[in-house]
Amino acid sequence: MENLKGKELQKMLTYSVEHIAKKDESMVEKSFEFCEGYMDFLTASKTERLAAANILEIAKANGYTEFDPAKTYKAGDKVYVNNRDRAVILSTLGQKTVDNGVSIVASHIDCPRLDLKPNPLYESNEIAYFKTHYYGGVKRYQWAATPLALHGVVIKTNGEKVDIHIGEEPTDPVFCLSDLLPHLAKDQAERKMRDVIRGEEMNIILGSLPYQDEEIKDAVKMTALVYLYEKYGITERELLNAELQLVPAGAAKDVGFDRSLIGSYGHDDRVCAYTSLMAEVEAETPDYTTVTVFADKEEVGSDGVAGLHSDWMEHFITYLAQMQGVNHLTTLGNSKCLSADVNAAYDPTFPDVMDPRNSCYLNKGVVITKYTGAGGKSGTNDSTAEFFAEITNMLDAKGLSWQTGELGKVDQGGGGTVAKFVSQKNIDTVDIGVPVLSMHAPFELVTKLDVYSTYQAFVAFINR
Ligand code: MN
Ligand code: MN
Repeated sequence: MENLKGKELQKMLTYSVEHIAKKDESMVEKSFEFCEGYMDFLTASKTERLAAANILEIAKANGYTEFDPAKTYKAGDKVYVNNRDRAVILSTLGQKTVDNGVSIVASHIDCPRLDLKPNPLYESNEIAYFKTHYYGGVKRYQWAATPLALHGVVIKTNGEKVDIHIGEEPTDPVFCLSDLLPHLAKDQAERKMRDVIRGEEMNIILGSLPYQDEEIKDAVKMTALVYLYEKYGITERELLNAELQLVPAGAAKDVGFDRSLIGSYGHDDRVCAYTSLMAEVEAETPDYTTVTVFADKEEVGSDGVAGLHSDWMEHFITYLAQMQGVNHLTTLGNSKCLSADVNAAYDPTFPDVMDPRNSCYLNKGVVITKYTGAGGKSGTNDSTAEFFAEITNMLDAKGLSWQTGELGKVDQGGGGTVAKFVSQKNIDTVDIGVPVLSMHAPFELVTKLDVYSTYQAFVAFINR
């Protein structure tokens, strides 16, 4: 230290993070190439069911077979668990037995959206509508007067499952909800932001032509029913047995003159799903068995049978332990988890909500978040210093870019991830993921460099 002075000493003693492209220009080309696959995945994965189907298709093409608890697997074998077509685990068996711990990377594949109500269809003033109930943290005004696609399944009374996808192909019609014209929005302008469009005003316009029969009441609704019956064989009764969602229509797009950003619906959290998927399928014979989880229901608190508050992931790990004749509690206690989810990037247009010294920034790489929560860290998995150090030292040892950041200023708001549901199983867990601008908007932004950096972090963890 005696030899160091001025700038050199300052560099040694202080902490700062550089733009990835300033550190290594070659990362730009690598990240652009990687993100081509990501953008295709995003465009084709507008719902958790579509994401799960695409993950399973990629897994099967890479040699994964359905996990059978009665079978014995060896190092390098690749298996999948399909939880009700809406959540998935992929696993590559490691060289060590699982009581040495497994490497969990847990992302979620559900996103904020508008769900149809169980009895959705009605007519008002000769316009046919669907009633909706929004899902997850939605700024409702962002969803008005913008094209929406309809995706989902209907289970017919005879048990047959019908898939519906309308609004993504260039020749498809789209749907939308209306907003008031500015000329008549004097009273609406006085509403608070969350009520600019109220929940019960999120009514989706379906059509406006009457069924041609003078005797019929609600003839425009009848046109919609006839369309649904002729095209899909479903009745109004069968719409009760359904999961139908409205999501922003259209493909992921490059953003900016330099095409360095990706604008799309669903980065939160399909960006961590895709990057961990790529790291998982490329794993050969890691030391530790991988458990790469793609969960449902994170946006509504991880409850539900395919969310991470359910025990399905633990059941899989228990089966692995039983298969190898080792203790499943020892297995859980020695396991490590990256809770793979996005964080809010510092937005120079809205600086007031961020602590600039404790925010993540675009193009500075994967963000590792020690704690989330709200109101004095309530509801957080606050990673131990030891585990935070273990993960960040691992990334440093590989020369990878990373940064840290809180979710906004103290008491500005907050949020949570699946981390607390994994750590409650006695598993060391830390949050890690991609910085996002306009999180939960119909058009979220990430940078290609950050996406690639996150993939590199997952590769390092899985092959630790
Ligand atoms: Mn998320
Ligand atoms: Mn979210």
